[in-house]
Amino acid sequence: MRGFIDAAEAVLGLPIDCPLQTHDQTLHSVNKSVTQTEYHTKELTDHVACQPVYGMTNGADMSSQSPKKILVVEDEPEIAQLVKHYLEKDGSRVDIAKSGAEALKMIKSERPDLIILDLMLPEIDGIEVCKKVRSTPDTALLPIIMLTAKAEESDTIVGLELGADDYVTKPFSPKALVARVKALFRRLERETTDKRPHLTYSLLSMNVESHEVTLNEKEVVLTAKEFGLLEYLLRHPGRVLTRDVLLNAVWGYDYFGTTRTVDVHIRRLKLKIPMLDQAIISVKSLGYKLSDQPPAK
Ligand code: CA
Repeated sequence: MRGFIDAAEAVLGLPIDCPLQTHDQTLHSVNKSVTQTEYHTKELTDHVACQPVYGMTNGADMSSQSPKKILVVEDEPEIAQLVKHYLEKDGSRVDIAKSGAEALKMIKSERPDLIILDLMLPEIDGIEVCKKVRSTPDTALLPIIMLTAKAEESDTIVGLELGADDYVTKPFSPKALVARVKALFRRLERETTDKRPHLTYSLLSMNVESHEVTLNEKEVVLTAKEFGLLEYLLRHPGRVLTRDVLLNAVWGYDYFGTTRTVDVHIRRLKLKIPMLDQAIISVKSLGYKLSDQPPAK
């Protein structure tokens, strides 16, 4: 640990046990300069060896569960180590991948619960990693938070279209990133335990038990599959759902058909419930996402 702290102190230019806010502000400026040199990263020093501190449970609400495994994919060693440090302080287990290729290998071998993915990486960039993760059935739902620089805002949008669950813009505060990680885990936890019999989305309302859907209090008649598809989308707002994921969830693993079936049913849902035309977003070459910001009532 000392090696990392020394390195962090060297990066930050101040002792590691100074108040957190100072760290955040300083990291902010460190990141700013890193961002400016994002395209000339080759001269950066080798990453500092640091023993993983598994199972540290300083973080309050993660202590009761087994630690989450997070893969940080970042080619700037200083940023990677700081992010690792803050996440470990919060009780997570953290691995670092320094390139897209290494990330893809580690996703297979380490099976992380979440990836923090830098956009600008040598050779295979963050967008390619994201695409690959989403289009592989095993990892289609693996949560991804993308790290991008301000100047890459158009890429950020591409990243979200390609299936990142959230993104954080560099320069960022590590504490804010940890908060985003926790928020995403909370959201996913809610999704997996979600048994709500009533689902609402703006003026749309679904009673799962009585199989009724209303839009602005008027009944909408849906087929069983349209109903199942809408229910799945309503239970996973903001998540990129690939056609395979939707097909398995609604039609079942033994369904003998093509993923185009999903497109046909999405089209029908949009025809029957016009507000979904905007709210269900097509994710290029992957699938669909129900916007997590429902249209105003
Ligand atoms: Ca980078």
